[in-house]
Amino acid sequence: QPELTGDLDTILEWADEFRTLGVRANADNPEDAQLSREFGAEGIGLDRTEHMFLGERKQIIQSFILNEDEETREKAIADLYAAQTGDFYGMFKAMDGLPVIVRLLDPPLHEFLESPRTLDVEIARMEASGADARAVAEKRALLAKIDSFVEANPMLGLRGCRLGIVYPILPVMQVRAIATAAARLKKEGLDPRPEIMIPLVSTVNELAKLREVAQRTIAEVVEAEGVELHLEIGTMIELPRAAVTADEIATQADFFSFGTNDLTQTTFGFSRDDVEGEFIPQYLTEKLLPYNPFATIDPGVAKLVKMGVDLGRQGNPDLTVGVCGEHGGDPDSIHAFHKIGLDYVSCSPYRVPVARLAAAQAALK
Ligand code: PEP
Ligand code: MG
Repeated sequence: QPELTGDLDTILEWADEFRTLGVRANADNPEDAQLSREFGAEGIGLDRTEHMFLGERKQIIQSFILNEDEETREKAIADLYAAQTGDFYGMFKAMDGLPVIVRLLDPPLHEFLESPRTLDVEIARMEASGADARAVAEKRALLAKIDSFVEANPMLGLRGCRLGIVYPILPVMQVRAIATAAARLKKEGLDPRPEIMIPLVSTVNELAKLREVAQRTIAEVVEAEGVELHLEIGTMIELPRAAVTADEIATQADFFSFGTNDLTQTTFGFSRDDVEGEFIPQYLTEKLLPYNPFATIDPGVAKLVKMGVDLGRQGNPDLTVGVCGEHGGDPDSIHAFHKIGLDYVSCSPYRVPVARLAAAQAALK
């Protein structure tokens, strides 16, 4: 029997000698982080923290958003803080000694709230079964509240850094949890290396404001825990305005990570959630598009990435630049990113071996 695993490891080790692009993974739980390490990832390029807010936690964040009562809100934040500290402790421990880029909450607000349609159905069912009038009225009140948060275009709405600006307690809670988990691991003799990433920035002012919030929060944890922490703070570049003003944005960033999923969506004005729909398949058949731009980086979007990298390095010569959209694990896109001069790509754990190989092939080419 040939030693397939051994052979693959050998080939990838050869590849590593040639590639200049780093390879990291996108992961948001310790199991995936561990798997990434086994596949050779040199860090976590994207920890999407919204994936930590499913199930019961979604109810907690919903109660924070919908309640006006201060005590209820404080209790929700305290619960989320405790849960997140445990999440980050596990992630940083699994990636001991390697960077972990933690992205602050990003999704549109409605993803944290119950769906109005589901609530409607529930109310109708309650009424049909003759449920208690008070219970029905409570559900109706909840529905009215949730309806007041409904946006016509949630992907262009209250999401990304805008969430942190409207609800500053959210980034404070998350940064506190990140810094506290790191401080505790340091006290245990480990080497946690978290970095904090602000999503969906379009102006330097947004980043400057949230950077200040993060720095102040880290300083408080350093004081409380009595441990020195140096956490880098950076941003995603995933909107055209961010790419074309990257020189300004870089003055407030230690690193950039290109979110090419959103950048493709906003550059083309194509919805990333509807690519299977009517017109993109037809565009592909008629060769109006050579390939699906959400899978392989489009040359126009790549131009924006290059502009963002070049301007970003003008604004901050020490800037680290990577990519964490789906394209980070696509071989053709990896060739383009190598040419542009990114420092690393980040992709799903299972694509890490392919990315290592593609990065070496790009370097040899
Ligand atoms: C992106 O937009 O490319 C990205 C990595 O962020 P998300 O896919 O979570 O929006
Ligand atoms: Mg994005």
